[in-house]
Amino acid sequence: MAEAAEGEVIVRHHYLSLDPYMRGRMNAAKSYAEPQRLDAIMIGGTVGEVVASRHAAFAAGDKVSGMGGWQLYARSTGQGLRKITRPNIPIQAFLGPLGMPGIAAWYGINAILVPKAGEVVTVSAATGGVGSVAGQLAKMAGARVIGIAGGEAKCRFATEVLGYDLCVDHGAADFEARLSAALPDGVDCVFENVGAQPLALCIERLRDFSRIALCGLVASGYDGATPTPLRDLKVILDRRCRIEGFVITDHRALYPQAIDELADYFEDGRLGWTETIAEGLEAAPEAFIGMLQGKNFGKQLVKLI
Ligand code: NDP
Repeated sequence: MAEAAEGEVIVRHHYLSLDPYMRGRMNAAKSYAEPQRLDAIMIGGTVGEVVASRHAAFAAGDKVSGMGGWQLYARSTGQGLRKITRPNIPIQAFLGPLGMPGIAAWYGINAILVPKAGEVVTVSAATGGVGSVAGQLAKMAGARVIGIAGGEAKCRFATEVLGYDLCVDHGAADFEARLSAALPDGVDCVFENVGAQPLALCIERLRDFSRIALCGLVASGYDGATPTPLRDLKVILDRRCRIEGFVITDHRALYPQAIDELADYFEDGRLGWTETIAEGLEAAPEAFIGMLQGKNFGKQLVKLI
């Protein structure tokens, strides 16, 4: 174990977050961020406890979140390290509904889609880290919210726990017919996490002045799969639709506000959530690959210590 130098802390990680963006970092191709360096610690969000501090802003015992990477301990100058000040909330929630995925949902809903009461919102990967929060925030705004998720169990969780009005299983043989039935008058806001067929079908059902928040495309392209085709841009013009892609790390200044609001919802029981936990760092690669295949149910985490 390295010792903390002046101005540094040592953090013991309790949980590591596994997120789809990590797959992109494993490609050399140009993206919004630098690729993962091969001889460096794999990038990753972590929560844990300061076990030694020679930093004025942190004391031993402080709970913190940060980008500690795939390792049990990290030495940090404090940059990017955030104190967790809500002792009543399970610490790992700060990697899920109150962490980067939740903040992305908060931004997509509040800054891009801004659903009005009575509007129809679809959310793909509806029960995942991002989708579960996006759906609940849209519901709080008074929208009619339709989830798209993989399998009956996830769909049941979406309606019974997360409060979706309906959830459509994208694995069903008659998925398109079910989606059409769920969207008889089309869709005003698309919170997109997946791409591929679900997105293509939602685009065909856009209403006038609709909005699409392009948060992720996990089904198309992260792992070398086929890109999502957009057959004809004319629908975007005809429906006067606005599509906005976003990367949440461009909006770090909003994190404190987002985390505060989400933590309030969490504490007063308005934000339901679930998680899939792999045990131990050695289980992380398999859990990561599983998440990219939709095997996770809720936020995918790795319990470290
Ligand atoms: P999730 O917990 O939602 O896990 C990924 C989910 O994608 C799977 O569980 C699966 O859910 C769904 N999925 C649907 N189709 C496929 C497919 N063909 N292959 C694999 N998975 C599929 O992950 P996150 O909540 O962490 O992330 C959701 C999306 O948001 C991702 O695209 C991610 O990259 C993006 N993201 C973007 C951010 C940004 O700043 N723009 C920030 C954070 C995340 P199901 O079985 O229900 O379909």
